[in-house]
Amino acid sequence: MSRPEALWPLFADLTGLDGIGKKTAEALEAAGIARPRDLLFTLPHSGVDRSRRASIREVVPPTMATVEVVVGRHRPPTARGRPYRVEVRDAETTFQAVFFHPRDEWIARVLPEGARRVLSGKVELFDGVAQMVHPDHILPPEEAAAIPPFEPVYPLTQGVTQKTMARAAASALDRLPDLAEWIDPALRAREGWPGWRAALRTAHAPLGPAELTATSPARQRLAYDELLAHQTTLALARADRRRRPGVASAGDGRLQARVRAALPYALTAAQERAVTEIADDMARPERMNRLLQGDVGAGKTVVALLALLVAVEAGGQGALMAPTEVLARQHLQGLRPLADAAGVVLEILTGRDKGSERAAKLAALAAGDIHILVGTHAVFQKDVVFADLRLAIVDEQHRFGVRQRLELGAKGAAADVLVMTATPIPRSLALAQYGDMDVSILDEKPPGRLPVTTAMVAVDRLDQVVARLKAAIAEGRQAYWVCPLVEESEAVDLTAAEDRFARLRAALGEGRVGLVHGQMPPADKDAAMARFSGGETSVLVATTVIEVGVDVPNASIMVIERAETFGLAQLHQLRGRVGRGPAASTCLLLYRAPLSEGGRRRLDILRQTEDGFRIAEEDLAMRGSGDLIGHAQSGLPRFRIADLERQTALMALAQTDARKLLTDDPTLRTDRGQAMRALLWLMEQDKAIRLLSVG
Ligand code: ADP
Ligand code: MG
Repeated sequence: MSRPEALWPLFADLTGLDGIGKKTAEALEAAGIARPRDLLFTLPHSGVDRSRRASIREVVPPTMATVEVVVGRHRPPTARGRPYRVEVRDAETTFQAVFFHPRDEWIARVLPEGARRVLSGKVELFDGVAQMVHPDHILPPEEAAAIPPFEPVYPLTQGVTQKTMARAAASALDRLPDLAEWIDPALRAREGWPGWRAALRTAHAPLGPAELTATSPARQRLAYDELLAHQTTLALARADRRRRPGVASAGDGRLQARVRAALPYALTAAQERAVTEIADDMARPERMNRLLQGDVGAGKTVVALLALLVAVEAGGQGALMAPTEVLARQHLQGLRPLADAAGVVLEILTGRDKGSERAAKLAALAAGDIHILVGTHAVFQKDVVFADLRLAIVDEQHRFGVRQRLELGAKGAAADVLVMTATPIPRSLALAQYGDMDVSILDEKPPGRLPVTTAMVAVDRLDQVVARLKAAIAEGRQAYWVCPLVEESEAVDLTAAEDRFARLRAALGEGRVGLVHGQMPPADKDAAMARFSGGETSVLVATTVIEVGVDVPNASIMVIERAETFGLAQLHQLRGRVGRGPAASTCLLLYRAPLSEGGRRRLDILRQTEDGFRIAEEDLAMRGSGDLIGHAQSGLPRFRIADLERQTALMALAQTDARKLLTDDPTLRTDRGQAMRALLWLMEQDKAIRLLSVG
């Protein structure tokens, strides 16, 4: 497939546009505008009111005004450094047009005494006298129609003037091909959206401020185009995966029932719902590709186990991949007793398995004697062969790249995939990033959780904090102490953590304090974790190693040093380590004064709420979507018009629409399907185009 000819002019060189030479083209390219299409999707962000007035007395300075005047006396500067003034008279009053260093010949020509002129510019009062310094436009009345009543203002690019932008945009608009409509006509009618060409024209030549807002019909339509193209790509990827043969894994509930009986608690309604959704999906012959989203402590692990048991009940195997060794071991510890209760063989495989022991595990796995394998990404190394892998689960997915997610799918040729994430991302982002997946949400926490009291403490009160900690551990409480990641180099952070470790040991007693950090030998790390979760040590000093997933219900105090340097989501994750047991929990945010405005706001939000979704929304609002996702590998496109923060509903609509379109027309052959192909080309959805080419 190649790009439709109708679109060629929009993908030609920028230098073909009016007023754009090589230098300007380079400047624009540096700003990410490389083709006429990019220019078309770079919309003015504001506008200047140049509607005609009879007199400047109709406006309140300082402000823009456009008036017709009779040119009066010229008053050249009387001293060096003074401006050149020209008196002018509109329908009601006189004012001055002011110039610094005008050329004599030029000023005499543009403002001849006695002539009529239309001036447009900013009117200001200077010593009580109204003046217009360097008017933007000076034209004879018969040419004044060239001044648009509302002049668009483009986002500025170094080395490119507003006039150049406007002229180039106009010339790109002249080349707009007439493309068939890709939006569902009923939807367009309902929303009152213009056609594509009309929408672009309006967006570049707004008649007033109302047409600059994101909610104006033209801009909404253009935003929708972007979202629809993106969602169509995701829907194509989803359809492609579902088309490939999968295996229907229907459980009979036999093993699940044994595990449920062994659990000290009942599942929450949200957990039940998620288990049902997953089991139903696994029972279907298509491959499952599902996201399980749930705030920290929502209880994703047990949902994962029940899903793995469905695979085993169906006669197959399951795998659970954790991002760190510590977490993999924790899963082993937590899940093995339950697996034993069900008579299911659960093993662990990590990078630490070597030699004959590893070989034995691999053999057992290939023979189908191991039913469930937990581990790190070692689980998906090349030589790891399953007898019949039915379900692959990735825990804490935000620690893995999209690439690993794809590798996983390749492992069991037909394996269902479940991705679990504890990062409660806002719905709009979830739709954008995981739109190719189906989503189950744990929106409820297990009952009986006490709220975590969160307090801010300046770091100069460290001694008091340590004293209180001493009293708390004397009562049998346990605490995490998180050291900051302030420096670029891990070595420096390590020193900070080791210093803190030494100091706390001196204050609280040698044997009471443990330490874990990323560079520790794995066995030491395990040992430190085990001593803490077994209650041997009372305080665990850690770098952010513990951010993800660690579960020690008796720990009820979380101290975060230099909390102001952490991101909101990270702080929320860290705090989520406490508040899991019956004791009331505390989170102390140690900060160094003075706090920046952003730092204070983050800590305030954290004090106000424990609702991960609300925190995520605030995070998104404070940082913007690009930053929140944080890496190019997220695959999240950079939208030029659509606003992820504010157009969630539009994104949801695009997803429904795209999925429906593909259900009705999987290969995009109908008229609307063909139109959609053009949109995908226009929006540079290469992945979609590839999928269409092979499919
Ligand atoms: P996360 O979603 O953060 O991975 P976990 O699966 O680690 O959460 O669960 C957090 C804690 O809640 C664990 O100690 C787990 O045993 C407990 N838990 C899970 N589900 C329930 C439930 N329905 N009722 C009570 N406790 C639960
Ligand atoms: Mg977890």
